[in-house]
Amino acid sequence: MSAQLRALFRSALTPELLAFMDDIETQSQVQIDVVHQPAGATAAMGMRCFAGTIQIEIPVSNVIHMPAALHELQHMERYLVHGVPAMGGVDRADWELVGNLENPVEHLVIVPQASKWGMRDHNFWNAQIRNGWMDLPNSGPGYLYSRQQILRMNWLATSYATDAGVIALAERMLAAEGKAEEAEIRDLREEAVAHLDDKIELTRIITAGLGIASRRVQLQIFDKGTGKFTQRPLS
Ligand SMILES: [Zn+2]
Repeated sequence: MSAQLRALFRSALTPELLAFMDDIETQSQVQIDVVHQPAGATAAMGMRCFAGTIQIEIPVSNVIHMPAALHELQHMERYLVHGVPAMGGVDRADWELVGNLENPVEHLVIVPQASKWGMRDHNFWNAQIRNGWMDLPNSGPGYLYSRQQILRMNWLATSYATDAGVIALAERMLAAEGKAEEAEIRDLREEAVAHLDDKIELTRIITAGLGIASRRVQLQIFDKGTGKFTQRPLS
């Protein structure tokens, strides 16, 4: 089944993206599996990249949207070719809290870079960022993240918003939090954006900014030399 889906995925790619996928696999000596998304998935596509599971997840409709395919390959390139660390929770209790930050943090880097391919999906990402702000009430007690954490993640994501209306909405939401909080949130983004090319430092900055102690965070790193993933503490 997987070999069939892999062939289907590859046959849908533009020549440029097919060459990109080949390049990732050649450089990393890893073959990317292609499977169907789990039932109930709402994203256009997904991916998982850790020991034992290196796969792109396509919709059960088998509709392959090129900007989404590029996006998942960009994730793979960073982990498998560039050896960019992925953050995760040290303890099981933190797997969700810390693990769920990994994608949004990677997006700070890879969403703008999709422009180089002429495949930046502005409408999609602007809508995602807008939804993040509209979703702000779904934070705090009873939710995974506090309001303070969601505000910070939303403002970080707004760094790659390109719709003036979305940016204006974010500015209004931020201003409504009061001067001190606004200043702290702005500082966090400035520091993060200055360290996009250093994932370890970026992880330190963002987890600290979200009030997550570094001892709760570990990094998973792919080693091209051995073909294995290793884990190391952040601190
Ligand atoms: Zn992504």
